[in-house]
This record gives sequence, structure tokens and C-alpha cells, in this order.
Amino acid sequence: MEKLQNQIGLNMLEQNLINKHRYKKISPQKLFIDGDWVNGTGENFDIVSPIDGKPFTSIARATVADMNKAIKSARTAFEKGLWSNMAPAHRKKILHKLADLIERDALELTVLGVRDNGTEINMAINAEAGSAAGTFRYYAECIDKVYGEIAPTANNVLGLIHKEPVGVVGAIVPWNFPLMIGAWKIAPALAAGNSIVLKPAETASLSLLKIAELASEAGVPEGVLNIITGQGSVVGKAMGLSMDVDVLAFTGSGPTGRRLLEYSAQSNMKRCYLELGGKSPNIVFSDAPDLDQAAKVSAMAIFRNSGQVCVAASRLIIEDEIHDDFIRKVIKHANLLKVGDPLDLSSDVGAINSKIQLRSNLKFVDVAKEEGADILTGGNQILQNTGGYYMEPTVVTNVSPNSTLFKDEVFGPVLAVSKFKSESEAITLANGTEFGLSAGIWTSNLSKAHQMVSKVNAGVVNVNTYGGADVTVPLSGVKQSGNGADKSMHALDKYINLKTAWIQL
Ligand code: NAD
Repeated sequence: MEKLQNQIGLNMLEQNLINKHRYKKISPQKLFIDGDWVNGTGENFDIVSPIDGKPFTSIARATVADMNKAIKSARTAFEKGLWSNMAPAHRKKILHKLADLIERDALELTVLGVRDNGTEINMAINAEAGSAAGTFRYYAECIDKVYGEIAPTANNVLGLIHKEPVGVVGAIVPWNFPLMIGAWKIAPALAAGNSIVLKPAETASLSLLKIAELASEAGVPEGVLNIITGQGSVVGKAMGLSMDVDVLAFTGSGPTGRRLLEYSAQSNMKRCYLELGGKSPNIVFSDAPDLDQAAKVSAMAIFRNSGQVCVAASRLIIEDEIHDDFIRKVIKHANLLKVGDPLDLSSDVGAINSKIQLRSNLKFVDVAKEEGADILTGGNQILQNTGGYYMEPTVVTNVSPNSTLFKDEVFGPVLAVSKFKSESEAITLANGTEFGLSAGIWTSNLSKAHQMVSKVNAGVVNVNTYGGADVTVPLSGVKQSGNGADKSMHALDKYINLKTAWIQL
């Protein structure tokens, strides 16, 4: 934390500085189209903070016409070559400048985002502004380091493989970590030379609107980055159905991902990259190197950001002989976490994003009880007096592999625990859902660790840790957790077309 803070100039993270931003009046928001702030043609709607349940600003409920206008502006900018034909060295400078500006405004951006979505600032400062700045820097550097290829053809022919931008990228992102995930889409798409229209989630749009302002200040030309707020079922759908969007880059839930595939099939068969949900298994063997540390990390891996993390380790799968002891340790750590105001530096865990999400979390607990599981700790809404949406870290045991809690993503602070006797049983349990996003393995046995890595179906497998992440490595799901990769050089592939030039010599 400290290292990253220094890196982004945030060693000044202090309560009084946070408070300076937390009560700032935020005026009603507009849409960012063609380099300008414009009123949406629909009405604005209130943004309610999950911290206290009170509205503090409003955002535009854009219409299909607004979305189409933004797509048109992105297309025009692309065809004019405002960005795509700009010298790579210049584009690189602009993306670095954008990273500088994110660092300059990191605290303001982060507090704004936390007021909107409820993530504890201790986590958000690095996961949001820190990560976004790092992502723009990484892809800025890719701009003049990614080459085309010369194919090994016969010597009377020259086969050149060009990497061309796809044109207009449509990005749709969720409410957890909007800046981080927004940057994962915007930065590689821009690095590859495209124009973009991005639609943030209804309950986490503010920090991404601010990114548009910073991008403009950094020198991103008009029309190259457009931000359209509003309802997924209206403007997200319009983006999905557009004949003029070439690639859709989505992060969100499986049901929405499925709809986007349908929209693509009904329109121009645009490529859809889907980063979806998870129900990630965290497998603890009795020979784990340090069971206390494993228990602490396992608790953090589900309870940070109230479990609103796509890779949250939501299923703890423990070897039978250590099950009871290990659960005691996990519960001890869970109960030590202070849930509260996400803008209070002493809070370990912040708020649930919305009333709807809180209700959904509580419903999962009720269903788990009905299906015969035991709630060992938590399970309730707390801090009702604040007006905000908070929930206790919750540990549920005796979760059967056929139950709802074992199979479905809660996206909340609810840990489902099961036990195993053999390695093969651990693998069957781990792979027993439709998801395949992330996993954890805890063992001192190196060959067992390697074998488990290859047998567990997941895009990321952590060994003796959890939640390892960096912009240099891809995040991509398997099975119904999605396709394509965010982060790393591989993400660039989503935003390019390969073109062969076959030249007879
Ligand atoms: P969601 O699918 O409800 O919404 C995501 C986005 O899609 C929002 O911007 C929403 O407005 C938009 N949308 C909704 N309906 C739409 C439609 N019909 N057409 C087009 N767009 C539409 O998901 P959420 O609740 O915002 O986010 C939580 C989900 O995101 C969880 O499942 C979580 O696991 C997943 N997630 C995945 C990753 C990853 O990298 N794999 C990262 C973060 C979150």
C-alpha cells in the first residue's frame, strides 16, 4: 500500500484530506460526446450514496439518440484519423499525460468514486486511481513497441501482417472498481488507435465522467473518447445493437453478457469480449505453509470491498482434517474486520453498492438456511442508523454442492464453506460450477500445487496467496466467466484487426 501510494504521490492519504473532498457539492452531470459536455435528451436521475442512502448528485439518463450520436462522433473521429493517424510518439505522450493527471487528482477521483459505489478508500486508492494510472502508463508504452510481422514466405513474395485498429470500440463496465475496469478497456483500445464509447454502470458513473475531462485535458482529440451514462437496458442495448460499433468490450454479469451476444447476432456480428462473474474456489490443504496466514488471506479474499470483487474467493474448500480449526481462524479474522463508512480510514470494509444488492445478498443467506446450511457468523444488515447499506461478513458451512450458495455468485460478503477428503474430491468441488474466473491453492507440496494449477478450471490460479494481480498479466475467465483478456499485452489483440499484405516481388 505504502509503496503504491508513494508511486502515485498519495503518501498524503490522511483523513482531513479525504474529508475535504467528501462533502464537495457535485453538480448534475452531463454526457461527454465529441469532446463536449452536453445535456442528455432524457431526464437526469439521482445518484444515491451507499454510505448514507442520500442523493448527492444526478446523472443523465441518456437515450438511444444520445448513444447513436456518441457512436457517430467516435466513427467520424476515427475516419478523420484524428487519433488513429497521429504519430505513435505523440499518442504515447498523451496517454502518459493522462496518467499524470490521474495521479494529480487521484484522491479527488477516488473519493468521488467511493461516494458513488461504497468501496473502502483503503482499498480504492490503489485499486482505482493507482491502478488506472498504471494501466494508462503501461499501454502508453505499448504504442511504440508493438510491431507488425513479416511472414516466412517463399522469397519471391513478401507477406506482411499489419495490426490495424478495429475502428469504434463500445465498452460497458460494472459498478465495482469503475476506474480500474474502465482503464482496462479504454487504455488498450486507445493504444491500438481506436475511438471509444464507454457506458459506465448506473451506480458508478462519476469517476469515469471525470476521466473524460482529464483525457480531454491530456489532449485526446474530440470524438475519440465518449462517455454515455444511463440504463443498461436502454443505452447499453443500443450500443450492443449498433451497426457501427466494431468491438464490444464488456465486464459485468453473465445474463447481461448473454444479451450482448444476442445483440451482436441481431446486428453486425461485432466481436464481443465478456469478462463475467465468478464463484471462485479457494482450496486449503492441511500441508499449507502457514495456516494462520492462509486463514487471514482467505477472509480478506472474500470480505474486502464487501465481496463485490469478481475474483472474490467465495467458496472455501478445506481439507477435512483441518476444517474445524481453520474455520475458527477464518471467523476470528472476519470478526476483526471493521465494517463502516468507506471514507473513514479506520474502516476495513465499506458499503454494499445499492439497496437492491444488499437485499439480494440477504436473500442468498435466507436461501442457504432453507437449503440446510449453517450460518456460523454474520448474515445480517448492520449500521441501519447511518441510512447506508452495510452487511456483516458472513460465513456459511455445510454448503452442499447442489445448493444455490455453492453455485451462484452472490457478489457480496458471503463465504460458502465445504470440505474434502482427497485431491480428486477437491478438484471436483472446485470445478463444480459454471464459472472459471479465479482460484486459490494452499499447499507446501510443489508438485501438488502444479498439478492443481493445471486441473482447476480458472483464468487465474493463486498459490499460497490470493488476489495476485498486476497489469502485466492477463485476467480472463474460462467457462461462463467469459473470454478474452483484460490487462497485459494480450488485451491489445481484442482491439486490432490483422491484415495481410501479399506482395509479389
Ligand atoms: P451487470 O451485468 O448488471 O451490469 C454491467 C453493465 O452492463 C452496467 O453498465 C449495466 O448498465 C450494463 N447493462 C445492464 N443491462 C444491459 C443490457 N441489457 N444491455 C447492455 N448493457 C447492459 O453487472 P453489475 O451488477 O454491474 O456487475 C457485477 C458483475 O460484474 C458480477 O457478476 C461480477 O462478477 C462481474 N465482474 C466481472 C469482472 C471480471 O473481470 N470478470 C470484474 C468485475 C465485475
